[in-house]
Amino acid sequence: MKFKEDKCPNCGQYLDAHTNLKKEVKPKVGDVGICYKCCSILVFDEDLNLAIPNREQLERINSDKEFMAEIFSYITLLNLRQQ
Ligand SMILES: [Zn+2]
Repeated sequence: MKFKEDKCPNCGQYLDAHTNLKKEVKPKVGDVGICYKCCSILVFDEDLNLAIPNREQLERINSDKEFMAEIFSYITLLNLRQQ
């Protein structure tokens, strides 16, 4: 799904679209994203720009083991596609 233009705050990759793991919805504040280039775990900030998660956000993400498993599965897929 096309979305606002942004850059990965970690690697600087230009990003203008996103793919939701479960259904096609626009991202909202606090949602987690993964950069397809560097596989950084990112969050959508209050302006829906991608940001590096702060400690509190990382703890929230990390506390959801099922979600973390999904994230690592997706990162593995990204890595396989880039080989
Ligand atoms: Zn990146």
